[in-house]
Amino acid sequence: MKIKELIRPHLLDLQPYSSARDEYSGKEGVFLDANENPFDTGVNRYPDPLQKKLKGEVAKLKSVSVDNLFFGNGSDECIDLLIRLFCVPIIDKVLSITPSYGMHAVSAKINHIEMVNIPLNDDFTLNTEQIIKNSKDVKIIFLCSPNNPTGNTFSKVDFFSILDNCGCLVVVDEAYIDFSSESSMINELKNYSNLIVLQTFSKAFGLAGLRLGMMFGSKELVGWMNKIKPPYNISQTSQNLAIKKLEEFKIVENQIEFLKKERTRVERQLRKCSIVEKVHPSEANFILIKVKDSIKVYNYLVLNKIIVRNRSNQPLCENCIRITIGKKSENDLMLSKMKEVC
Ligand SMILES: *Cc1c(COP(=O)(O)O)cnc(C)c1O
Repeated sequence: MKIKELIRPHLLDLQPYSSARDEYSGKEGVFLDANENPFDTGVNRYPDPLQKKLKGEVAKLKSVSVDNLFFGNGSDECIDLLIRLFCVPIIDKVLSITPSYGMHAVSAKINHIEMVNIPLNDDFTLNTEQIIKNSKDVKIIFLCSPNNPTGNTFSKVDFFSILDNCGCLVVVDEAYIDFSSESSMINELKNYSNLIVLQTFSKAFGLAGLRLGMMFGSKELVGWMNKIKPPYNISQTSQNLAIKKLEEFKIVENQIEFLKKERTRVERQLRKCSIVEKVHPSEANFILIKVKDSIKVYNYLVLNKIIVRNRSNQPLCENCIRITIGKKSENDLMLSKMKEVC
């Protein structure tokens, strides 16, 4: 697939903003080039616009080349930049599944791009036939796996079939992949030039407040994303804290193991609650349950200062509540209150 043929035509001759740090990136010297304040605050200098040190660490962890890596101010920024790079307002379309993560649709709407919604099958699997059929006049397909809010991972066979037959870009949003038993689609990047994978520091890494999202794609795509991004989109503080987090990756791994064990325990306990009609199996750090009356359950939990997400207004999610896996004491409190609702 030729990326260049999909780029919005008016961007093809874009001269990106050239920052002082692009022209001279050495560490030593007297820096009188960027109108910064010379007095040290820890952050008085502009950050590295290409986040080279952090990219080096992430590339090692994920076994990819730094050239295949792009960071956004949250994955939400990656989603927005991808739409802005490829989709001409009013004319182009994107495709997503329902129910799924809301930001793909919101970002499309903000950019005045029509979203084609393809419902999942009743068992929450992909309707690949409909996705492929409808992909002919869309620029980007967004697939979230493990999917939010259903919690399931989609099959690789379905991904391959879509990638092989769609003729457009396919973004696999893997915000929850660290909690899944399935391997990441990052491993398939070398086989599919139309594949883009999103991951984030917001969930397993425990840095939601930082706003740091990762995009994995071809070197050519990363080059284009670098051209259109705000020059200093990742703050120095974010870069430093993310590097520090990667240095203590063992802690992250332990937390993932803990949360997966808690997920199994909470799933079992929820199945014992009389008001719970269904506990959907989860590959993420949340569980989607179906109850008799989701408003009643939601209100009772809120009354007890336990905040969950009522997803009842989403397709296929009637009377469904999404519960994030917390600390053991938090989960126990939630479970005890669930047993009280009747
Ligand atoms: C939470 C979540 C994200 C994370 O977005 P950030 O902007 O990186 O915090 C991305 N995709 C999905 C599907 C999510 O649920």
